[in-house]
Amino acid sequence: MTQQREEMPLDVLFVGGGPASLAGAIRLMQLAGEKGIELEVGIIEKADSLGSHSLSGAILDPVALKELIPDYRDRGCPVEEYTCRDVFYFLTESRRFPVSITPAYLHNQGCHIISLSRFVRWLGEIAEEMGVMIFPGFAGTEVLYDDAGQRVTGIRTGDKGVDRNGALKGNFEPGVDVTASVTVFGEGPRGSLIREVGKTLGIFSGKMPQTYETAIKEVIELPGDSPFAAGDTTVVHTFGYPLGLDTKGGGFLYRMAENRVAIGLVVGLDYADPMFEPYEAFLRFKKHPAIAEMIRNGKVLQQGAKTLCAGGYYSMPKLAVDGALFVGDSASMLNAQRLKGIHTAMKSGMLAAEAIIEAVEKEDFTEKGLASYPEAVEQSWIHKELRCARNFSQAMGKRFPANFLHIGLQYITDGKGLIDPLHTRPDSVTLEKVKPGRPAVEKVKDLDGTLFVDKLTGVYLSGTQHEEDQPCHLVVHDTHLCVTRCHETFRMPCTRFCPGAVYEMDEDEKGRRRLKLNPSNCLHCKTCEIKDPFGNITWVCPEGGGGPKWSIL
Ligand code: SF4
Repeated sequence: MTQQREEMPLDVLFVGGGPASLAGAIRLMQLAGEKGIELEVGIIEKADSLGSHSLSGAILDPVALKELIPDYRDRGCPVEEYTCRDVFYFLTESRRFPVSITPAYLHNQGCHIISLSRFVRWLGEIAEEMGVMIFPGFAGTEVLYDDAGQRVTGIRTGDKGVDRNGALKGNFEPGVDVTASVTVFGEGPRGSLIREVGKTLGIFSGKMPQTYETAIKEVIELPGDSPFAAGDTTVVHTFGYPLGLDTKGGGFLYRMAENRVAIGLVVGLDYADPMFEPYEAFLRFKKHPAIAEMIRNGKVLQQGAKTLCAGGYYSMPKLAVDGALFVGDSASMLNAQRLKGIHTAMKSGMLAAEAIIEAVEKEDFTEKGLASYPEAVEQSWIHKELRCARNFSQAMGKRFPANFLHIGLQYITDGKGLIDPLHTRPDSVTLEKVKPGRPAVEKVKDLDGTLFVDKLTGVYLSGTQHEEDQPCHLVVHDTHLCVTRCHETFRMPCTRFCPGAVYEMDEDEKGRRRLKLNPSNCLHCKTCEIKDPFGNITWVCPEGGGGPKWSIL
């Protein structure tokens, strides 16, 4: 049935309310103000409020922030800790070993510890004060093109009030067509709309496959006498246990204000063992004697999970097409070597804004009219940083000791290393078959529900909620394949790699298996779509406003 849709015309639309879009919108309003240009600028965000879906470590390199808002300290920027004093540990199963010589890129002097969800809210307030219209609770579900299908003209937001069978409910509201001269895609990692643009306009063709890491993170409240809360160290990084040296990733603890600590484990999704479970690894990390001591008597306040794009420079898409630009994690701008992407995301949004102002002045929103954006990225420090880290994630994906050999050579050759570019495979093809008779991996025991919580408690602590009666946003194309080939080959790894306990396998008394989905638990991390070995899962945006409700992550 054809729906009558409202149209909302804007000059510039930012899709996704993260640091890239917000910095871009603020910069655009600054420039428009200086030049006396009136612009209608909007941001749509699928979360119910800005920041609710924003999760990151997060150690902020303030280089872009200082440029955008030089008086950020006076303007109440919510910084948790201004000083980063790092220590690095190599962990074995029971011991820790300080690593005193570490590459410069691992140091965080001059950086700040923030809560990304708080930081994003603060940026949102500034953007709104400048006249940017922010529309939370609106999920972009389709990209709009001109009649020739070559120029992006905006996006369509998802319908609301559709039941699980696709029938319209009493509260039905059709999605809105938000059109704009320029649409800036800043959806974060694995955006649904940029995936669509990629298929239509080929912006990823010829690029290295994107690789991802999944981060599971908590904010823990510590007792007042906690040595970590009062100690000199504010940032702890670990590698080794529980991932070992063949799996990319590591752990972190960052001290926050008010006796809180951010703790997390980052896991490369190119891991090989189908029985591996990132959430269990996170629990093992927390239970390590050295880590458990630092968080002793703490209480988990919030938990969340998110993927990050680790592919970097060689996975960057074409950055401008007719009517659209791509910024931040959507455009693979995270520096995996430094495990930082907020600064590059912000800078890319700001450079996009500068190109848009030029395009407005020339009244040319074609790829050519927007070309100063990719040129500016090329000349900026984003390019310099990402070039130096261009083979890092690919090297980390190798087995020990090849990974360390590559990293060492890259360090002394400004990122070139032994092979440049160092090729990689998509994370969906790296699982090895389960050996017949292999027993299930024993789960971590003694979860007290306070400091050590199971997946379902973690989902509860993420505040995740979705409208129950809506079409399932996890589209499993062939559920028979899950319980046959996927079970035989990989024992249904979705039941393990999903940090939200969304995928379960039911087996009846006759041994008949069935995939059971709990989409309401979904944390929107996208791990399932990335790691699924059969390409059998597609994550689509659920009704706007659904998902986690992070406020301090
Ligand atoms: Fe993440 Fe997919 Fe699980 Fe949702 S269903 S929490 S996107 S892995």
